[in-house]
Amino acid sequence: MSSEGAIPSVGFPWGTFIAVIVIGAFSLLSLYLGFEAIASGRTEDANYYILLGSTGFAAMGYMIFRSRVTTVRKPLIPRVEVVTTLECPKCGFKKVRGFKRGDYVFKEDEPCPNCDGVLTITRIHRREKKRSRRW
Ligand SMILES: [Zn+2]
Repeated sequence: MSSEGAIPSVGFPWGTFIAVIVIGAFSLLSLYLGFEAIASGRTEDANYYILLGSTGFAAMGYMIFRSRVTTVRKPLIPRVEVVTTLECPKCGFKKVRGFKRGDYVFKEDEPCPNCDGVLTITRIHRREKKRSRRW
């Protein structure tokens, strides 16, 4: 007997899901053994089992956290950086910097570092960042 509904949907972190269940069962068993050891007076064994159990739960939490983070980060919009080009009309000095609020073309922005002229914004455009696609 096979049902269509049992096929895992694409995108669901089944590996993580199974690992979490296995670790969870293991941690519960450890905690159970720990409490049983406390009940029968074996404190050293109890400490060991409880430590093991809590480590398991911590690992579980970490895995859930990690899988959530990767799910959230998947739909990434390519980052676009807007840059402003400034030019000095006197000496021709050219400078490119990140876009700032209030920038507009032909705005006289800052003093020229080469002469006594004023750098004028000649171009505002976007520069697409080349990102390595690793996901
Ligand atoms: Zn200049």
